[in-house]
Amino acid sequence: MQQLPRHTDVLIVGAGPAGLTLAVTLAQLGISHVIIDSKPTAAPGTKAAAIQPRTLEYLDRIGVADTLIGDGLRGGGFAVVDRDRPLMRMSYESVASPFPFLLLIGQQQTEVRLAERLEALGGHVHRSATLLDLHDDFPGIAATIADADGLVHAVTARYVAGCDGVHSSVRRLAGIDFPGDAPAALFALADVVLQEDSPRDLDTTFSLSPHGMLITSALPGNQLRVVASVPEGTPAPDTAAIAELLGRRGGGWIRGAAIESVPASSAYRVQQRVAATLHKGNVFLLGDAAHTHSPAGGQGMNTGIQDAANLGWKLHYVLTGRARDELLDSYDTERRPVAAQLIAFTSQLLQIATVTEPSSIQLRNDTLRAVADAPGITDFLAAKLAQLDVGYSRGSGDDAVTGTRIDPRVSQPSGLAWTLVTPPNADVPSDDADLTVTTTPDVDHPVAVRPDGIAADPALFTTLFGVDRHVQ
Ligand SMILES: Cc1cc2nc3c(=O)[nH]c(=O)nc-3n(C[C@H](O)[C@H](O)[C@H](O)COP(=O)(O)OP(=O)(O)OC[C@H]3O[C@@H](n4cnc5c(N)ncnc54)[C@H](O)[C@@H]3O)c2cc1C
Repeated sequence: MQQLPRHTDVLIVGAGPAGLTLAVTLAQLGISHVIIDSKPTAAPGTKAAAIQPRTLEYLDRIGVADTLIGDGLRGGGFAVVDRDRPLMRMSYESVASPFPFLLLIGQQQTEVRLAERLEALGGHVHRSATLLDLHDDFPGIAATIADADGLVHAVTARYVAGCDGVHSSVRRLAGIDFPGDAPAALFALADVVLQEDSPRDLDTTFSLSPHGMLITSALPGNQLRVVASVPEGTPAPDTAAIAELLGRRGGGWIRGAAIESVPASSAYRVQQRVAATLHKGNVFLLGDAAHTHSPAGGQGMNTGIQDAANLGWKLHYVLTGRARDELLDSYDTERRPVAAQLIAFTSQLLQIATVTEPSSIQLRNDTLRAVADAPGITDFLAAKLAQLDVGYSRGSGDDAVTGTRIDPRVSQPSGLAWTLVTPPNADVPSDDADLTVTTTPDVDHPVAVRPDGIAADPALFTTLFGVDRHVQ
């Protein structure tokens, strides 16, 4: 292990997607940080199998979107079928983003690309380094970390970011509760390699068959992600069990898909939990350490990456003395409701998908078919799944834009700089390297856009940049 520094501004515990995104963000912003992970290498396995458009918008700002898009497959969106009977299709082509597709790519590759970007920015993951303990060390926090040889190191940090997954030590050491439940639903989950000449469907397909739910999603390398609801006690599926699930529940080519091998297979029980707070003292929780829920809809990893997007720029402004500590309180106020709403949404998806009573199955499928024909419904759902609707408390009165996402095609961001989006005749010169000015007829008054793509509170903008731009 490379020598651990004794002091840093931000200690990031966990080098999964959330921790790596935070590390890349801080490296790009020039903030000192240390990122550790207890594992000696990046964990194998595809796990989260899709990146949403909203996430790509942030990954573009930190310089990894293009590489990931080159590695992955451009998925068309979500289709809901009852084997051969189409029920609903949420096409991502209609999604109002520069990235109108669901990027199909395994989590491991996402982590590899984030780690490469971190190295390119001069950063580095300290591997085989396990957080053992945390205690207050005014004005920051002292961490005890064990390396692979059992040697113990002390690192003091101004802040600790717990990105250490669902069994988070940081959460436990900070004494933060993780309330929620585990619904009685078991899933078989497998990564399957199909034979070379297998057909390819780039929609992620939910088959709501009378025999149970089956989700199939293409991955690079002729792989297919398979998720199926299974009865309690079912073991991780082998090749024969997966072929049986595909044959009974799948439609079209999926039914007869020729399996070459099964690199990964597990039985997975969903938990639905949100931490009681995402910020306590000098500690923050991000990603699965902060929230966990059903993987249906491909939202989990994406939400963790967005946590890092929200926290990263705030740490930058506080640590460089440009904002007061209170700015960090908005991390919990903004992100915890997002996590709670996500759990409500994925829980609904789970309930709809796992109905077992035959008459209820019929009713559900007929209803989905009818709802799909209502104008705007499938576009609305596609935008929701793409996470484009995720925003924070809105302004009052005429200020409806504060807290909402601004389409990057309007704001045209440059890296992690703020953008001031102005109408054509506004005279708003900027000599601040952290602020770019974009002129567009799409707005009728100036709007300041934060580095996470959200329209800023005008008062915050004025405080940070020192000038009242009459921004609304
Ligand atoms: C089989 C499987 C399939 C999944 N499929 C999907 C899917 O299709 N879609 C989806 O959105 N999500 C899916 N998920 C969930 C997704 O993988 C997680 O949401 C995502 O990994 C969370 O990222 P994270 O960065 O928060 O934490 P993690 O990826 O869990 O990373 C946490 C890291 O912290 C490290 N760590 C833990 N404790 C310590 C410590 N004390 N000291 C140092 N390091 C520590 C761990 O080694 C780990 O590398 C799946 C998960 C599994 C297991």
